[in-house]
Amino acid sequence: MPFEKYENASQATRWPVSKAMKQLVVVGTVAIDQVKTPFGERDRVFGGSASYFSYAASFFTPVALVAVVGRDFPPDYRKVLEEKAIDLSHLEVSDGKTFFWRGEYGNDLNTAHTLETQLNVLMDFNPRLKFETLPDFLFLANMDPALQLSVLDQVKGAKLKYVACDTMNFWIENKREDLLRVLKRVHCVVLNDGEARQLTGESNLIRAAAKMREMGPNHIVIKKGEHGALVFFEGHFFALPAYPLESVFDPTGAGDSFAGGLMGCLAAAGEVSLETMKSAVAMGSIVASFTVEDFGLERLRRLARAELDERLEIFRRVCSF
Ligand code: AMP
Repeated sequence: MPFEKYENASQATRWPVSKAMKQLVVVGTVAIDQVKTPFGERDRVFGGSASYFSYAASFFTPVALVAVVGRDFPPDYRKVLEEKAIDLSHLEVSDGKTFFWRGEYGNDLNTAHTLETQLNVLMDFNPRLKFETLPDFLFLANMDPALQLSVLDQVKGAKLKYVACDTMNFWIENKREDLLRVLKRVHCVVLNDGEARQLTGESNLIRAAAKMREMGPNHIVIKKGEHGALVFFEGHFFALPAYPLESVFDPTGAGDSFAGGLMGCLAAAGEVSLETMKSAVAMGSIVASFTVEDFGLERLRRLARAELDERLEIFRRVCSF
């Protein structure tokens, strides 16, 4: 069994937690997306796993973004990230085009269908962690597991407080061996239910989590879109529903902003315990619930911290009994 104890997620701490904040770094993609949902279509939307992650995390803690873009990357998109406490000094600009992703959602908004992936400048990207002191919290956002491994090699031997990673079907299919090497070396994996099933070959998510624990990480967070999240934390288990939303406009970035909210809160708390993890997962769900209300980062850009706290309070009430 991947867990022995059931936890009531509503017994979590409240944010903000006033303890020593720890440095948070994300390595991932900064992208230009083309997205079609049942509610509309948008070309050249600002996206990417690290963009959503860092914007979401910055509501709770400063974050440094390590990624690459091409010369075509619009200055206006850079300005979007500059609105927040996001350190862009590690955002490389390379000759070539920015990573491009084209995706579509049918009536099942939980499943993105990838229509096109152009790696472009990511093909020659070699992420460098050029920090005076290594970060305490590191997130390997969705990207080529070979690049995730190269980042892990750079922090080899250093005692980072917490390293988590994400992935997706594209990499599970194409870079499975590298991904398995990454999983051996992280504390936590955050992925969605479809990815958990694909990675482990188990349709039952409890069994899938048990298999993933055998692959390495002690903490496993399985996102289930509109059905919430399952969390396996060492021997403990807890589950949260999703915030009840009447209209979801564009689910792109929900997973990355969930992870950003989660890691941002953990870094703000300065420590990872069952209690901080519960609160962080709840806040991650709340941030994601705002992301999906508009295309790209648009809703998060209009989001005030007070709205997060307000929705968290409602969420706390609907989750407790
Ligand atoms: P999600 O949070 O899972 O909806 O992720 C959405 C973002 O993932 C989009 O903005 C894409 O640019 C990005 N993305 C799509 N495919 C990949 C990939 N193969 N590697 C890294 N990022 C990707």
